[in-house]
Amino acid sequence: MHPTMRSNPCTAIRRATALAALVWGAARCASKDAGTPEPPPPPLCQSVKRTCAEVKGYAWSKAVTVECNDADELFTVRASGLPPEKADVTMPKLEAQDWEFLVPLSPRCATAREKLEGRNVPQGLMLNGVGFFTPFDTNGDDLVKNAMGLDECQGMPGVGCTYQYRSLSPCIFGASDDVAKHLEKDGHGARVGLALDGFELFATPTIAGEPPLDACHGHETATRGYHYHASADAPYLMSCFVGATRGDLRYTATLPEECLQGSSGPSMSMGSGPPEMSGTGGMGGMGGQ
Ligand SMILES: [Zn+2]
Repeated sequence: MHPTMRSNPCTAIRRATALAALVWGAARCASKDAGTPEPPPPPLCQSVKRTCAEVKGYAWSKAVTVECNDADELFTVRASGLPPEKADVTMPKLEAQDWEFLVPLSPRCATAREKLEGRNVPQGLMLNGVGFFTPFDTNGDDLVKNAMGLDECQGMPGVGCTYQYRSLSPCIFGASDDVAKHLEKDGHGARVGLALDGFELFATPTIAGEPPLDACHGHETATRGYHYHASADAPYLMSCFVGATRGDLRYTATLPEECLQGSSGPSMSMGSGPPEMSGTGGMGGMGGQ
């Protein structure tokens, strides 16, 4: 064999760059020679394309309004943050807020999960307009497991006299209308909410033919795309986000004094970041409690 026939094949490829068919091979060799990292991993799931008509057709509470433009990346849900059965509650003190939920219309899948374990952060909104959060307090303790402050609908008071869910409330469709009765036509659990990455949250049960739930407590099917499932036990709702983008969950409200623990003024704001209270009423950060 001629000595040149045993030369580095990458070198040979570089010499032949005029041949279009070899360009990919040349690039691969160059990448390998330079020690560049492997290509990024594939997305965790298939992205979902949704229309405003589909989103508006969900079983939203009548007190919830949905503003959606198909050309926009996010759609907006406005609500008081209180389900109808909590509209007039003084013990513990709850106040209606001007909630604004921003949700990705067509969620995209990330290549890595964002774990939520031990973090006290918003996860999304239920179809009755109440926000849901991780089950942890600021110390990382499981509030649901400890049944701390939970009412008969599995809701609890939060900072600013808000009302929050930390697990699947049986009252999403009404205080005496158990979610468990609202199965979809094929027996799948009901759609109950939307996570802040835009993917949908369903109640139990899953149905035959669906793959097992993954580390985020979701799975992907041909019928529903990627979706999360709530559960009676931890993680209760979802344990991480698979979406590449986040919406926001926030409110601004003028509140009575008793709701303004530590605030410097009559207004308070919440957003999706760490806890923050201010007297400006502007966008702030927000934790759970
Ligand atoms: Zn499912």
